[in-house]
Amino acid sequence: MNPQALLESSKRHLWLPFTQMTDYERDPLIIESGEGIVLKDIYGNEYLDGYSSLWLNVHGHQKKEIDEAIKKQLDKIAHSTLLGAANVPAIELADKLIEIAPNNLQRVFYSDSGATSVEIAIKMAYQYWQNKGQTKKCKFVSLSNGYHGDTVGAISIGAIDLFHRIYGALMFESIKAPFPITYRNPIGSNEDTIRDEAISALRRIFEEQHEEIAAITVESMIQGASGMHVMPKGYLKGIEKLCREFNILLIVDEVATGFGRTGKMFAVEHEGVQPDLMTIAKGITGGYLPIAATLTTEDVYNEFYGEYEELKTFFHGHSYTGNQLGCAAALANLKIYDEENLVEQAAKKARLIESELKSLTEFKHVGDIRQLGLMCGIELVKDQDTKEAFPFEERVAYKTTLEMRKQGMLTRPLGDIIVFMPPLASTDEQLLTMIEIMKKAIEVTTMDKM
Ligand SMILES: *Cc1c(COP(=O)(O)O)cnc(C)c1O
Repeated sequence: MNPQALLESSKRHLWLPFTQMTDYERDPLIIESGEGIVLKDIYGNEYLDGYSSLWLNVHGHQKKEIDEAIKKQLDKIAHSTLLGAANVPAIELADKLIEIAPNNLQRVFYSDSGATSVEIAIKMAYQYWQNKGQTKKCKFVSLSNGYHGDTVGAISIGAIDLFHRIYGALMFESIKAPFPITYRNPIGSNEDTIRDEAISALRRIFEEQHEEIAAITVESMIQGASGMHVMPKGYLKGIEKLCREFNILLIVDEVATGFGRTGKMFAVEHEGVQPDLMTIAKGITGGYLPIAATLTTEDVYNEFYGEYEELKTFFHGHSYTGNQLGCAAALANLKIYDEENLVEQAAKKARLIESELKSLTEFKHVGDIRQLGLMCGIELVKDQDTKEAFPFEERVAYKTTLEMRKQGMLTRPLGDIIVFMPPLASTDEQLLTMIEIMKKAIEVTTMDKM
């Protein structure tokens, strides 16, 4: 199809995720190819991939080693089921994942998206207690403003009003504990106080209801979709301690933060936390193919282990679970991490970004800059001093990202927050170019604001 036909057809038949289609109709974008960290549209315009194609991409597009690994696997087989049968790359990848994951995690259960890896964690944690005979432990605790994907289970433990409120009657109830937000927290800005307050609130919930609580689910170290909110130091460790004290499973969602994104292979390493279940997806295949996994301990696994007649089996699976092409891509992806010392490199780049982003504070509409590794959020506000937000309808960050697109860089905002999440392999020069584009775009879109 030629560009015009593609455009018309896309407007006629496509329905894009998380997208109001009138926005797409006004400002359509159709990607045709990508090389390195540059994406190209059907008209030949080029864009730096400032959001890693929605938080996935690691080494850029058309990475030779991953392309070749997929082609090589394709010469053997594209897919066979993992229900009742293993396959070669799924076994090798499980080995590799266990090697790099926190030490207590010993088992890999595959699926195909972040949301499915979370659904699996929820059902596993629930059934763990059922199989163990502690049948009252059915409830889940999750954090305010958390995000874990879009399936009904995942939204039930999520708490982003804009996305989730309408489904209220559809969701199972989960107990919401306050997230220790450091920007606009009514109790002030002292991070230790904010952390201690949040830990005390969680302790009260656990004290009152631990006999009925199966697990707590938390994003690891930083809440992504709610606007890049970094946990105060010691908070995640504090949750882990409470989980041990009250016999509650700790589910850590590393879907966004895993694979070097925060400057560690997994973000739990920042605090030496050992979760009972850990969900991983996004960066696992370098942003190539839909592979996800739920990792867990031998203790959890053992509660499902026995003869068929005991009815302990985990009756859950997806058609494409353990897909060979995806696992081959993931193996090639992780090999490059070793060869290029990628996690350390990413940590270094994060420091460069940190010092460059500081200069954004000179703009009077930049309210806060939040960052953990290569996960950054820049919050635009009406008033820097009072932290007053822009009216919802103004869509300042959205307009800023459209301006960035004009200047050759792609990202997607979260409310009034501009997301900056470049591929781990971005060069220093590319990072600086992207920050320059961001600055110019912020300048353009906030120029006429009071
Ligand atoms: C993106 C994300 C998910 C959902 O992953 P999908 O692959 O989009 O289903 C879950 N949890 C977190 C923390 C995420 O950022």
